[in-house]
Amino acid sequence: MKPSLLDQKRRILVIDDNEAIHGDFRKIFTAGRPPADLAGEEAALFGDVKPDPGLQVEFEVDSALQGCEGFEKVQSATAAGNPYHLAFVDMRMPPGWDGVQTIQKLWEADPRLQVVICSAYSAYSWEQIAGKLGATDRLLILKKPFDKLEVFQLATALTAKWLATSQAQLKMSELEHLVEKRTSELKEAAFVDRLTGLPNRALLNDRLSQLFQNSLRDNSRKFAVLFLDFDRFKVVNDSLGHEIGDLLLIAIATRLQQETRRTDMIASLATTARLGGDEFIVVLDQLRDYHDAVRVTERLLAALAVPYTIKGHVIHSTASIGVTTNAVHYTSPDEMIRDADTAMYRAKAAGKACYMVFDRQMHQDAVARLTLENDLRQAIKDQEFILHYQPIINLATGATVGFEALVRWRHPQRGLVSPVEFIPLAEEIGVIVPLGYWVLSEACRQLAEWRSRSPEFQDINMSVNLSRKQLAAPDLVNSIQRVIDESGIYPALKLEITESAIMNDPEASVRVMDQIRAMGIELHMDDFGTGYSSLSCLHRFPIGGLKIDRSFVSHMGDRQDYALVLEAIISLAQKLKLRIVAEGVETADQMAMLRSMGCDLAQGYFFAKPLEPARAEAFVTSKSQRSLPPVCQTAA
Ligand code: C2E
Ligand code: CA
Ligand code: CA
Repeated sequence: MKPSLLDQKRRILVIDDNEAIHGDFRKIFTAGRPPADLAGEEAALFGDVKPDPGLQVEFEVDSALQGCEGFEKVQSATAAGNPYHLAFVDMRMPPGWDGVQTIQKLWEADPRLQVVICSAYSAYSWEQIAGKLGATDRLLILKKPFDKLEVFQLATALTAKWLATSQAQLKMSELEHLVEKRTSELKEAAFVDRLTGLPNRALLNDRLSQLFQNSLRDNSRKFAVLFLDFDRFKVVNDSLGHEIGDLLLIAIATRLQQETRRTDMIASLATTARLGGDEFIVVLDQLRDYHDAVRVTERLLAALAVPYTIKGHVIHSTASIGVTTNAVHYTSPDEMIRDADTAMYRAKAAGKACYMVFDRQMHQDAVARLTLENDLRQAIKDQEFILHYQPIINLATGATVGFEALVRWRHPQRGLVSPVEFIPLAEEIGVIVPLGYWVLSEACRQLAEWRSRSPEFQDINMSVNLSRKQLAAPDLVNSIQRVIDESGIYPALKLEITESAIMNDPEASVRVMDQIRAMGIELHMDDFGTGYSSLSCLHRFPIGGLKIDRSFVSHMGDRQDYALVLEAIISLAQKLKLRIVAEGVETADQMAMLRSMGCDLAQGYFFAKPLEPARAEAFVTSKSQRSLPPVCQTAA
């Protein structure tokens, strides 16, 4: 066990101009217990007390005859790390400092010193002394002539107090030290990526902000931010497991460190293989010129592309890197990271294993996209959408058999915005499901309204597009049911699903499509011919029709191969009893060719563009099928 501080020698300084007093003090303290001639007094006071050996204390007494001498002693004892615990100070010590002055000086030298002031008669009252020395718990007054036992007990108690206080302080500072250590460990954990030991996003933000501030002051400072993403990381992770994935990330971190300077910073953004994180950011500082950033990037790409050998697996993994520099006038580090990220995506799109430097065009695109995204969210709230309806024509009779509902965004500043521009974005940011639901219910409501007014609409269908996200939404079947119940247009509703949305997850798609078909709703495969489905597997899908993509129709006149494929599709569809709708018919020739191939239905500018509701209604009620050329025109 550590010896307790309380076992230490008690150090006492007596400051008194009367030499005889020093002798008295020494006598009192030499035994470490009440002096023999005091034993009787003590027994009288406290009863017959056996001295407790644990309370045995040892005193060490020093003397000074003047205040200034005492002050020097306290000063040097404190400096030597062997301070006094208690001083007895006489009140009157001519010709030098009096007791009060002395104590003021003593506390300057050692504020922890306990003091007993000894006075026979005093020029000061206790209030005056307290006024001069301040209210303190380190000062007691002892009236002369003093009682030896009282001196002994005061000394024992006050030195014990001194020792206990410093022990507590020691404990406190040990605790503080522990807390400091733990805090710094926690801080480190908050700023370091566990797997790679590299700075994490938080630390990166911090340093980049500093760098950013410095560069504002010193505009010759050139730096670059590189955003790295690994092209085949997911494949590695999925096929070889997270453990190998983690080791690969560590190997990548090591290469990055080898290829950069110490003034550069590499950060990893939540890199754990389990979470699929494989993004790193490199900040290149103190560039001589901005082109240096490109040179370093090229070097990094080459270094990272060298195959990795991990636990016997040879892994090929290249990086895509987006680069931006502070030559673009940024207002925050976040913007730099965002733009480097954008450039990285461009690099990936450009074929991977390469880099892209962020430029003005990318910046404009990024800003435009962000604006569009915000506007789109608002548009959903404000219901800024309308539907146009494009007629679908029976090629044999020229009759309008249905409409395809096509959504438009009535943007408050930009006017009508095409779905080509906002549907993919709506999918990405997750607003397609509410938007799609609105389209579905509005189209059905519109058809019900037309039907209630005009008998010509009794046999007209409504086709509505479903996006891939809608197809995957758990509530789809219920919401379709709700819409047809409300409008009562069952079974005139047809749903178009793109070939690529179906092929995204064919089994899940088939399950949902089966449910929809069971409700009596016909499904059409949209954009047919652009995706990957082969003709031979068409029968696997519960569909009632195919919509031939516009690219076939527009090329069939000049490209023999397109025409041949189209003919094959149509004849197979006929055998499978699928309806065929040709999209994008723009000319009489195209229409005639389709007819001769046996295509049933068509849609396109040749017949009508997508129309506003009133014009769509008029298209059916007033125009009807009169303008369609006779069926056998091309054969003649
Ligand atoms: P889509 O389903 O293939 O729709 C046909 C597109 O072709 C429509 O473009 C239509 O205006 C256009 N089109 C029709 N005839 C011709 C023609 O003769 N020539 C040419 N060049 N184009 C023609 P739109 O309305 O811009 O829609 C584009 C795409 O946006 C649609 O392609 C569809 O994928 C998507 N979309 C439109 N409305 C919705 C909707 O309500 N929900 C979902 N999920 N997607 C929609
Ligand atoms: Ca469509
Ligand atoms: Ca289409």
